[in-house]
Amino acid sequence: MPLFNKKDKYIRITPNNSLKTGVKREMPEVPDELFAKCPACKHMIYQKDLGTAKICPSCSYNFRISAKERLAITVDEGSFEELFTGLETTDPLHFPGYQEKLAAAREKTGLDEAVLTGLATIKGQKVALGIMDSNFIMASMGTVVGEKITRLFELATAQELPVVLFTASGGARMQEGIMSLMQMAKISAAVKRHSNAGLFYLTILTDPTTGGVTASFAMEGDIIIAEPQALVGFAGRRVIENTVREQLPDNFQKAEFLLEHGFVDTIINRTELPEMIAMLVALHGGER
Ligand SMILES: [Zn+2]
Repeated sequence: MPLFNKKDKYIRITPNNSLKTGVKREMPEVPDELFAKCPACKHMIYQKDLGTAKICPSCSYNFRISAKERLAITVDEGSFEELFTGLETTDPLHFPGYQEKLAAAREKTGLDEAVLTGLATIKGQKVALGIMDSNFIMASMGTVVGEKITRLFELATAQELPVVLFTASGGARMQEGIMSLMQMAKISAAVKRHSNAGLFYLTILTDPTTGGVTASFAMEGDIIIAEPQALVGFAGRRVIENTVREQLPDNFQKAEFLLEHGFVDTIINRTELPEMIAMLVALHGGER
């Protein structure tokens, strides 16, 4: 196995690997960060060409970005007020290694949980905003994620605000067992109360939105937008193929497939999202 371990972040090519014996050449060292491989079209892309929005110039795939990067390109500068921080899971199963995993995720992302929640304005429109971050234990939905999103909806209902939610998730958080599945019902109830008050809820499905999140609040938006080529589904592709014993189409569970089948309303690049969100919020009454 050590044969395949990369010892450091540079690809080192030894100077004496020339085919012509006796000729020694200095080979360049290419840092891994210089190029990115597009997961959708497999093209190698010069990092600079991806830009801050991180969109593949060849196929429009919107790369996964962190909640903080998302915030920076979405809301009006300086308008975000973070809410519902400092909640901690009770770790109901005392799952081995869970606390360490949480600590590592906090360190890596600078977030306290897999969703960032608060109030912000987008092109002047005030919204209650939630952004899930797939870098935090694959944005799996545990009790804290459920509680933060529920409180966001309750606040929005009380203050008569629209809710804008960027979803990304690997599904329920297995370390919290059935408690994580219960969040689906809890959030859905809060969504319904917000809806009954005649308020607007917009979801933006980003790559990947799967499992219990898709099966609940991600698909409960009044309008559902997806980013190009985002993976959106409930069970994984292999699970379904093995269950129904059928080969599924290549673009199965991609945003474009969902649009074709009426599950999402539109697909747009994230660079055009602030404009679109502000327009939709304004059309649906915005802040009352
Ligand atoms: Zn691509």
